Amino acid sequence: MRIILIGPPGAGKGTQAEKIVERHGVAHISTGDILRANVKAGTELGVKAKGYMDSGKLVPDDLIIEMVESRLQEKDCEKGFLLDGFPRTVPQAEALDQLLTRLNIALDGVILLDVDDETVVNRLSGRRMCRGCGKIFNVSYKPSSKGDICDSCDGQLYQRDDDHESVIRNRLEVYHEQTAPLVTYYLAREQLFKVDAVKGDDVPDKIDAIVGRS
Ligand code: AMP
Repeated sequence: MRIILIGPPGAGKGTQAEKIVERHGVAHISTGDILRANVKAGTELGVKAKGYMDSGKLVPDDLIIEMVESRLQEKDCEKGFLLDGFPRTVPQAEALDQLLTRLNIALDGVILLDVDDETVVNRLSGRRMCRGCGKIFNVSYKPSSKGDICDSCDGQLYQRDDDHESVIRNRLEVYHEQTAPLVTYYLAREQLFKVDAVKGDDVPDKIDAIVGRS
């Protein structure tokens, strides 16, 4: 399985990606997770990316494209992959097309997780992440049974800097301006499949049906 998940921030890309990856054993490539790991480790990439991320802006395309190029060539991607949060701009999509052609890899599809802006704001302002294992919770819909401690690894839960309401509104604006044009891009290539992601429960089944793996 080789798929791309796109959608606004808070569409549930991370949560759905975890389920799909567990079900199909493919590599999960989340550009947001890779960037956060770089910020945490204080790498050169992390230092360059942090300011953009904290204010909800996109990290420049050249940094992201280079990062994904090397990640896609790692061994675990041979059995398939799920791209989560990439591409986010038309130039990123074009760079990805060129890379996949060069690597002789075909995509099964691009899945758009469709949710409205108000659902996004409600979801993201309640989102908490584990500092230890990165597991995602929500104070309203999916709380940890241990309060602000992760029920998987006992790590501390925290609210991402970019999950505060003013930053969320900014990220939505960035999405509508820079990422939504990908819908037209992939529709024109007959690669786009839209999934209603307001109720998240059956999204992995819908995706399996789309890519013919059910
Ligand atoms: P995410 O976890 O996917 O919501 O990403 C968090 C932040 O990382 C975004 O708001 C951007 O600042 C940055 N980021 C992640 N993926 C990309 C990408 N493909 N292009 C540019 N910036 C990205």
